[in-house]
Amino acid sequence: MANAFQEGLRQLDKTCEIIQREKKITIKTEEIEILKKPKRVVEASFPVTMDNGKLKIFTGYRVQYNDVRGPFKGGIRFHPKVDLDEVKALAFWMTIKCAVVNIPYGGGKGGITVDTKKLSQREIERLTRAYVRVMANIIGPDRDIPAPDVYTNSQVMAWFMDEYSQIKGVNTPAVVTGKPIEIGGSQGRDTATAQGGFYVFDNLRKKLRIKKNQIEIAIQGFGNAGLNFAKIAADHDFKIIAISDSQGGIYNKKGIDIKKAIKYKKENGQLRGFKLAEEISNEELLELPVNVLVPAALENVITEKNVKNIKAKIIVELANGPTSIKAGEELFEKGVYVIPDVLANAGGVVVSYFEWVQNIRHFYWDAKKVQNNLSYIMNKSFKEVWETSQKYKTNMRTGAYITAIERLINAVRIRGRA
Ligand code: GLU
Repeated sequence: MANAFQEGLRQLDKTCEIIQREKKITIKTEEIEILKKPKRVVEASFPVTMDNGKLKIFTGYRVQYNDVRGPFKGGIRFHPKVDLDEVKALAFWMTIKCAVVNIPYGGGKGGITVDTKKLSQREIERLTRAYVRVMANIIGPDRDIPAPDVYTNSQVMAWFMDEYSQIKGVNTPAVVTGKPIEIGGSQGRDTATAQGGFYVFDNLRKKLRIKKNQIEIAIQGFGNAGLNFAKIAADHDFKIIAISDSQGGIYNKKGIDIKKAIKYKKENGQLRGFKLAEEISNEELLELPVNVLVPAALENVITEKNVKNIKAKIIVELANGPTSIKAGEELFEKGVYVIPDVLANAGGVVVSYFEWVQNIRHFYWDAKKVQNNLSYIMNKSFKEVWETSQKYKTNMRTGAYITAIERLINAVRIRGRA
């Protein structure tokens, strides 16, 4: 996505202006500068043996954005559109996200430019291991802890942890989160992003006094975040009338049977063709007359181009960066409530934090303990962001950024780096 990182920096400038004006405090230029540049950027090219015996060269990135509040933290994306600008933006957003929910991490992100749909499982394994080998010296449980993101999953994390442990000669589960339970993963990590998003959505719904039976939800994206959000919302008796994946979407005004749709997707690899609904495009899904819209796929899907046609009253950003800043401002003027990505999808990294703590202590929690701690953090963070946005008469994104940037700047000051 072009200039995603520049957009992030504009939001940073805007937030610093509000903090200075409203709180009557001065933030030094160099204190802002330190948040405007990544601490370290690694771009690496590495060969991978393909199943036909030939070598293919891939390019991968790791951006270690900021570690003033703790080690770098953030996922690894395998996608054909991955480039340095995108990884930088995602790493910046991780820095803000970890500060919004107040967990002791900085922010980072990684990625490989690759279409995994064209690779076999063995090729994905070799690709993952090759990436770990070039990054092994800059990551680690107290340095930088990767996790899953778009088109990476717990199996990829298992290979990641295994390769790193072999290189170091020490079993090191805490180097990466989002692992399978059998080798040190946490209960509830697979559903954490969706679960966290659901908690903050329900907080907002109650604040706005909207009854459950008045809600109609459309979800764009049916990967880990979108699929599990649909499942959790359906289990809580919410009506979901549209869902989509990268191939297209399906729509049924009366509500979609999510269990059947998940089964269909598992068997067919796509949602299209599901008999109990009409087909719609991803673009049409965004403009449906629903009151809740959940973008749960990629960046930049709500922009100046389509914002006028968006009818939802609540937008839950399960994806990272789905709304451009301009579109976000227009939505705010229209009275639409956008729960920003840095809060809405933070449940994933929160349970990653629990996983890391469990790995370090070698003491594992049950599902109930994970849920209780996740709901505590999400409810508290929602309250802080909501109250900040009300106090400064701004949207929830700016409310979240104010909360995060104050924490980051305080840490910079206390550490004495500026
Ligand atoms: N990739 C997820 C995100 O964007 C999770 C990151 C993590 O758990 O470190 O928040």
